[in-house]
Amino acid sequence: MRLRITGFEKRDLRCENCGVELTQEKAYTREINGEKHYFCCSHCADEFDSPIGGCC
Ligand SMILES: [Zn+2]
Repeated sequence: MRLRITGFEKRDLRCENCGVELTQEKAYTREINGEKHYFCCSHCADEFDSPIGGCC
């Protein structure tokens, strides 16, 4: 039996902005500077994409 992980081989999938764990269905993908990044929602993607007033 096989899980369908076509082109999706990241195991530890986390929101790159807030660090919450993601599932394949939940992951919000955005391409930034030619690289794929994964987030929990569009808000996190926006924050990551344009860090205005983000901490550190
Ligand atoms: Zn997030």
